[in-house]
Formats: sequence, structure tokens, C-alpha cells
Amino acid sequence: MKKEIIKLSENVINQIAAGEVIERPSSVMKELIENSVDARSSDIKVYITGSGRDSIKVIDDGIGINEKELVLALERHATSKLDSSDLAKINFLGFRGEALPSIASISDFLIGSIKKGNQSGWELRSFFGKLGSVRPSRLRQGTSIEVNDLFKQTPARLKFLKTDRTETGIMIDTFKKQSIVNSNITFQLFIDGVEHLNFLSHSTNSIEKRICDVIGSDFYDNSIAIESSREGASIRGLISIPTYSKGSARSQYIYVNGRSVSDRLITGAIRGAYSDYLPRNRFPILSIFIDVDPERLDVNVHPNKAEVRFEDEQNIRSLIVGSIKKALVNSGLKTSNLNSHRIIKAIKNNFQTNPNIDKFYSGQFIDKNNDIFSSKQSKFNEVDIFNKEFLPSGKNHDLVQVDKDYPLGSAVAQIHKNYIVSQTLDGIILVDQHAAHERIVYEELKSAIFGKPLKSQVVLMPEIVELDELSIGVLSEHTEEFKKLGLLFDINDSNSIVVSGTPDLLGEVNISKLLKDLSENLMNENISKSLKGLLDEVCSSMACHGSVRSGRVLNIKEMNALLRKMEATPNSGQCNHGRPTYVKLELSDIESIFGRR
Ligand code: ADP
Ligand code: MG
Repeated sequence: MKKEIIKLSENVINQIAAGEVIERPSSVMKELIENSVDARSSDIKVYITGSGRDSIKVIDDGIGINEKELVLALERHATSKLDSSDLAKINFLGFRGEALPSIASISDFLIGSIKKGNQSGWELRSFFGKLGSVRPSRLRQGTSIEVNDLFKQTPARLKFLKTDRTETGIMIDTFKKQSIVNSNITFQLFIDGVEHLNFLSHSTNSIEKRICDVIGSDFYDNSIAIESSREGASIRGLISIPTYSKGSARSQYIYVNGRSVSDRLITGAIRGAYSDYLPRNRFPILSIFIDVDPERLDVNVHPNKAEVRFEDEQNIRSLIVGSIKKALVNSGLKTSNLNSHRIIKAIKNNFQTNPNIDKFYSGQFIDKNNDIFSSKQSKFNEVDIFNKEFLPSGKNHDLVQVDKDYPLGSAVAQIHKNYIVSQTLDGIILVDQHAAHERIVYEELKSAIFGKPLKSQVVLMPEIVELDELSIGVLSEHTEEFKKLGLLFDINDSNSIVVSGTPDLLGEVNISKLLKDLSENLMNENISKSLKGLLDEVCSSMACHGSVRSGRVLNIKEMNALLRKMEATPNSGQCNHGRPTYVKLELSDIESIFGRR
């Protein structure tokens, strides 16, 4: 180690800063796009080759930089974006004046620019921090920045990069994130010379259209809009219905004051808002925009500004959770229409590939003398095809009265002992009875905890359940809540409890299994969860025990009762594991399957 203290050279300082700001090729792209956005561009083109290691080029048509300022732009802490010395008033994406000098210190860098209104443009090269001189450029508009051989002289960084495919993937993600929020700008991405993405600017109602372009129209069709404000902060955007979820949070596009962020507080709030609908390993897809007074937001907590700090965290959390929950509840019976698309596609594919269908149409399977479609002496009468037991008394199945416009229609039959077929005014519905009932029971249990206690079914012979001490310990911490749910028990000794009542709602249950499941659930969750989260878990586990199992034969009356109950139950479009409880096929879908449209 050297003895005396020396001041580091400007270039070393820049390289150190680059270590924080520029993690990988996508960070370069992000900084350059942000600069182009700040420069009020309406068209931004990005070219990458060799997953950004070889070259990243960003060309815009913004306000440009004049000859004098070109050198300044590559100097550390030089920025045109803070008018006063007040860090609290930030109206641009950039403000630290760090990106360009950092990038220029670790690459073969070329910037060319022409100030709007000027006759001629200028360019400046920096070879791994060594500045050239300002020369005339032939550029006619905006700014062009080319970054070649990134990290070539910092091999440690190069080694840390992932495979080409991964780095390119990260760049595409970054590009999409930047383009959603700037829907008034046309964005083009070229990868190794080939156009990969092209998002045209939209003039009216643009953000929704851009979301459609970037995330896809499937998402758009399976999303609900949110819009809300609270104490100086506002939120708007599109969120997916729970049945349209993903195994990772990659498709969550989150913005604060127009800046793409990945913020713990926000993702935590989103998770909380969906906790009733999604298991922990599923993530909603969404694009949300949060706006707060810039003076109540610190964007200067992270070198690449991916994290932010809100002055009033509680307000922001409530805003997010409240608006999402409200939208989900209001969306009520909306279920993933993607499911019906899938069915239609599957049927159509089957039609194209199943050779038996062709045989059927060639007449091979039709007994000419006994054509079920035309013959009066058909051996298949309705009672044979549809078990009499399932028919509403005194009515033929095709005469089911759909006189009332029930959203979930009138039950027609139960098939494979688990699916209810029902007819609505304009289509048919297929219900998974187990999933549907589980949701209903879950909602009832939940409302019992916070409202009127549930009825308990007295166990005639009190049942002794053997459990270990820890299980008994966690169960006994919550006897009051269990009482509200109708589950009554006393501690017998250190190894057993006596159960004297079970929730009426659950019907016949295996008491010992229920208690074991509950105690395991509580043990898993006890450490991290709030009481409310804990109780949700308990309800979910109980609901599973009390549900109409698949395999239970239901009569028409019971089926209709289940349908009416679903209509009256919040969130009944999916079971509490996020799976859909029913799918709907519109008449028009059916007509299209049969080529009538
Ligand atoms: P910051 O964005 O924090 O100000 P940068 O190092 O990214 O710092 O950029 C330095 C300055 O260079 C900016 O303040 C801006 O004046 C100018 N600049 C950078 N890129 C562009 C561009 N594409 N168009 C116009 N001006 C630009
Ligand atoms: Mg910048």
C-alpha cells in the first residue's frame, strides 16, 4: 500500500462510478434512452450487436447539444437538468451528470449531436476515457451515441456477464420498460442488424395502446383498469385478473413519476393485494403508474435510480393495496377469457388432426338405418344420453328454461362427476364444482372471522386428537378465532386435544386431519405473517377440507344452488389457489367452432 494519500485521477473516478451505474450492457442502454427521453425526442432507435458487448447505439431526434457543451456532457457531475441547486425538484430522468462520463471511461465511445436550430453538428470521441477533440459532424438532427467494446478494459466486469442470450433478453426487457411509459415516442430496437421491436407512437389514448403493443393484447383482454388517488399521490394502470398470472414478476411494469422502478415497497404491496387470489409462487402481470409530488419522493437513493424512497410510505402502500383490491372485487365474476380461447383453439386443432372426426363425417360411424339425427326410432333417446336423475323434473334437457338472465346460467347436467354444464342466454358455462365450492367456503370463513361467528356442528362423541406439544401450542394461541369459525376444542393434556364442534359449513370432515393440517399451516406461517395473513391461511386450509369434492354427484337443484351461490360470492371467478372456477363459451364462439361464422 502506498503511504501518502493522493487524489484519484478523473478517469479512475469515472471508472469507479461506472462500477455502480453500469452493471451490464442493458444499463448503458437504459441511461442512453433516458437521456434521449429527457431531450424531448419523438423517435428513438436502438441498435445492439453481440448482446451489447460489441456495440450499443442510440439515435434520437431530440433537442441536441451544441459544440461548447459537448465536452461538458462527458464531464463528471455536469448536467443541464437541475436548474436550481434544489435536489428536491427533479423533473427529468437524469440529474446526477454521471452516466456519460462513466460509460465513456469504460468503452470506445462516440457522441455526435446537433443543437436544434443550429446549422451544423459536432462530434467527440472518448477512447476508454481518453478524450479526442471536437470535430464537425454530418448529423442532421438530434443526438447519436455509439458505445463500442464495453468493459473490454475491465475484464472483471466482462467475466461477470451472463450468456449472450440472457444479456440480450435483459436488454429487450429494459427496452420494453422504457417504451411503455413513453408512449408518445416511437421506439425501434434492432438486434444484430435485424429489426426486433417497433412501437409506433400513438397520439390518443396512447398508454393503453402501447401496453397492448408491448405486453400483448392477451394481457389487455385479461386485465382490469385501476385508477385512484389519496393524499397527494395517485395510481393508474392495468392489472391482470388473478387467473392470468405468471411464475415470475418479470412482467410487472412499475413506474413512479415516469421512472421505471423495481421497488420493494411497491412489489410487496402488490403481493399483499393479490394474496387472497394467488398462491405465493404466482405473480400478476401489470403496468402501473404512480405519481407523487416530486418533493415527497427521493429518487437519489440508488446509483441507477431503480429504487426510490417515499416520504409517506404508509400512504403509498394503502393507495396500491386499496386500488388493486377494489378493482379485483369489482371485477367479480370476470374469469380468464384466455381459457375459452384455449378451448376453442383446442377444439379447432382437434378437428383438424383427429382422423376419427373425418371418418365420422364420411359416414362410417353412422348407421344409415338408425340415424340419430333424423330417425324417429332412434335408440338413443334423451334419457339414455342424459341420466334422468340430472334432469329438472318434468322437463326435457333442451327445454331448460333460461328465462332469467343469471350470469352463470341454469344447470343442465353434471359430467365426469365434477363439472357442471350450464346454459346462459348467450352461451354455455363449464364449472369446476370443487374449485367453485372451495372459493365459496373460503369467503364465508373469512367473513366469519371479522363478522358474525359461524355455526358449529356439535360432535356427538367428542374426538380426542393426538398432536405434539408445539402443534398444540400454536393451535391454543388462536382458540378465539377458531371459535368464531365454529371449531371448538379444549386442551386435554400435553399430547392431545378434545374437539367438541366443527364448522357447520364444512359438513362431514376428518377431524384429526383437519387439526393436523391447521397446526402445520400455523407453524409454517407463524414466524413471518401478520394475524390477518395467518387467518387467511387457516381459512384457505379449512376451505379445502370442506369443499364439495370432485366425484360427488349433484342433482340439478344442488347445482343451481351452487351457481347462485357463486354469483353472490365475491371473487368466485377463481378458487383461492388462483385457478379458474369456470369457463364460458359464448354462442358466437360455438358458432365459430362449427364454422357457422
Ligand atoms: P444527466 O442525464 O444526469 O444530466 P448524463 O451524463 O446522462 O447526465 O448527461 C449529461 C448531459 O448531457 C445531460 O444533462 C444533457 O444535457 C446532455 N445529453 C446527454 N444525452 C443527450 C441527448 N441524447 N440529447 C441531448 N442532450 C443530451
Ligand atoms: Mg442521463
